[in-house]
Amino acid sequence: MFHHSSLAALMSGLYEGSITISELLEHGDFGIGTLAGITGEVIILDGEAYQARADNTVSKLTGSETAPYGAVTPFAKVLSFEVENAINSELLTAIETQFSSKNLFHAIKLEGSFDSMHVRMSPGGKEGEPFVEIAARQPEYMEKKITGTIVGFWTPELFHGVSVAGYHLHFLSQDKHFGGHIIDFEGFSGNVAIGKIDQLLQSFPTENRNFLEAQLDLDKLRADITEAE
Ligand SMILES: [Zn+2]
Repeated sequence: MFHHSSLAALMSGLYEGSITISELLEHGDFGIGTLAGITGEVIILDGEAYQARADNTVSKLTGSETAPYGAVTPFAKVLSFEVENAINSELLTAIETQFSSKNLFHAIKLEGSFDSMHVRMSPGGKEGEPFVEIAARQPEYMEKKITGTIVGFWTPELFHGVSVAGYHLHFLSQDKHFGGHIIDFEGFSGNVAIGKIDQLLQSFPTENRNFLEAQLDLDKLRADITEAE
């Protein structure tokens, strides 16, 4: 798994793009992120990157866009199973019981149909503005009876800050017209696949002055990540 920067740095208000989408894609065909200015939600699926924006549109990215944060992996399925009419909370708990260990990252891919899918999209923010403030004005959208794919990761407590502990899941509809950061879903029928992650490679925004000079309040950040994600 490849991470650029960290979710904690992003949440603290460091939104300048410091890696291109093309560079991210060199490290994996599956993942999530956001674009410069924390505009929208990025979904990387089958080697293509998409951005779900706050105006409820989705577009395919060209690769030249930059991101302040991203997490990708070559999706390597270790386990999959079919479910019928599963409820979000119960399903996510059931998936955790399949993990080989709770001290490892896991890639999570759910493909199928959903009775409802409830997402949000970051509308963008000013550099330095804490993410909890942006989160408060994020638009949310819900679609009923939609097919598509959930793309994301499960992170061990040990790495809270690099990423968010637990699930971080984005959605992209099959027709590529709807997507975002998942708040909730209902009635999922389809395939659950868990991908193996046995290494973490993290790159840092070494040319980004705001990152280099940032004074981070880690206790506040941990609380903010838990609240906003
Ligand atoms: Zn997200």
